[in-house]
Amino acid sequence: MTRVLFVTSEVHPVIKTGGLADVSASLPEALCTMDHDVQIVLPGYPEAMAVAVASGACRRAQLNVESYDVTLWQTRLPGTAVVLWLVDCQPLFNRPGSPYQNAEGQDWADNAQRYCLFARVSARMALGQAGLDWVPDLVHCNDWQSGLVPVFLSNTRQRPATVFTIHNLAYQGLFSHGVFRALELPDALWRFDRLEFHDQLSFLKGGLVFSDLLTTVSPGYAREICQPELGCGLDGLLRYRHPALTGILNGIDTRHWDPQTDPLLDHHYSARSLGNKRLCRRDLQRQVGLDTNFEGPILGFIGRMVEQKGIDLLLAVLPELLHSGCQCVILGSGMRDYEQAALDLAEHHPGQLSVTLGFDETLAHRITAGIDLFIMPSRFEPCGLNQMYSMRYGTVPVVHRVGGLADTVFDPQTASADQANGFTFSKPEPPALCAAIDRALDAFRDPKTWRKLQRNGMAGDYSWQTRAWEYTNIYRQALAARQSTDDD
Ligand code: ADP
Repeated sequence: MTRVLFVTSEVHPVIKTGGLADVSASLPEALCTMDHDVQIVLPGYPEAMAVAVASGACRRAQLNVESYDVTLWQTRLPGTAVVLWLVDCQPLFNRPGSPYQNAEGQDWADNAQRYCLFARVSARMALGQAGLDWVPDLVHCNDWQSGLVPVFLSNTRQRPATVFTIHNLAYQGLFSHGVFRALELPDALWRFDRLEFHDQLSFLKGGLVFSDLLTTVSPGYAREICQPELGCGLDGLLRYRHPALTGILNGIDTRHWDPQTDPLLDHHYSARSLGNKRLCRRDLQRQVGLDTNFEGPILGFIGRMVEQKGIDLLLAVLPELLHSGCQCVILGSGMRDYEQAALDLAEHHPGQLSVTLGFDETLAHRITAGIDLFIMPSRFEPCGLNQMYSMRYGTVPVVHRVGGLADTVFDPQTASADQANGFTFSKPEPPALCAAIDRALDAFRDPKTWRKLQRNGMAGDYSWQTRAWEYTNIYRQALAARQSTDDD
């Protein structure tokens, strides 16, 4: 049994802005069922403290870190037996809204201080210096918010092994040299092969340079980030660290996302009996104000409305698709321009295009069940979860062939009849997206072909069980490497 401290800045159902929250919930739980002792540590955001209060959490330690008073609370991730530690530091984490941004969509001005303190506390826990009776063998960090943890551990000889997972290389936690000084990080770290990145402090580099092993969330993305095009300026470093880097495909929570039992749906169905999917379609049309007499294909998009996700490509092809007789449902939020463009289009197509701005877990489930085609034209996609949710719900994805999308969606043009589960295109441009959707619509018009695509998608294994095994292998390697350094 390995004791693992899993350091994350979001975890479902406590707080979620994206896929990191889903992974942070499912992976530790899957590892715990394999007899590992994985405990999660999360900043004490208001949502997290509310969970602590509701669950009667225990106050386990009182620390003074960088002149901040910090309380460590111990609770359980709701609905699971997984231990959840909360780093309660009111001036830094007790504020409403997104964990990373204010109501105007700007990053909190003190994000560097917030996640530096979070990393310092996590490092103390990792070294057994937080007054707890639990010390991990390994620390598993995730994304830039935990990038300084391996840095703080690096000077200590008797330290746990470290694994760092890249969920999205584009978010790097970059700050000025002034911030670097204000954080009182040692001058020796200001070097191009340590934390300095083009004259800025990079939290992400901390994770990439100082961790024993690196993973990312799909084999495809692991290859892509070692190349200039998707390497975000870090491809050189990643090529250097290539022997330590592994791509492991994310899984999904197959209990939470199950069309046979999903409590957020009014009707349930399975691969063998797809009939009720039609009722979910009707429920969705009614809920979002689409014409319920329409029998043709319904397209959908759920996600952050940012350039990465290619929402602009979808908006570019939508007028023609709506003209040709499709319905479409969009749920998301992000850049104001994209949000406004989507709303404008919806205004011109009442009953045919529905746009909901915001984050709505229930609606996300109902869309996934109620639509026919899920459109995911991401310019890059480390793994992507929505294409897997869609396939599980008998909804056929149309995706840009990149990163984790290329690893999970197989097009009939290249895959066998038993393997094909969606449609892919290779250039993130409107004509290519349009051509892929056209091919999907042709298939939709042929019920036999469509059922086969749906059933292939629904038969896929998206569970965490297999993936968790791959992580245990990584942990084993990291512990062995650590052991051999200790023996030197
Ligand atoms: P990313 O982490 O890059 O945003 P992923 O596909 O890995 O993308 O994960 C996104 C997760 O967030 C999925 O679970 C998706 O369903 C969910 N999601 C994204 N936007 C919304 C939204 N507006 N409402 C509800 N869920 C959303």
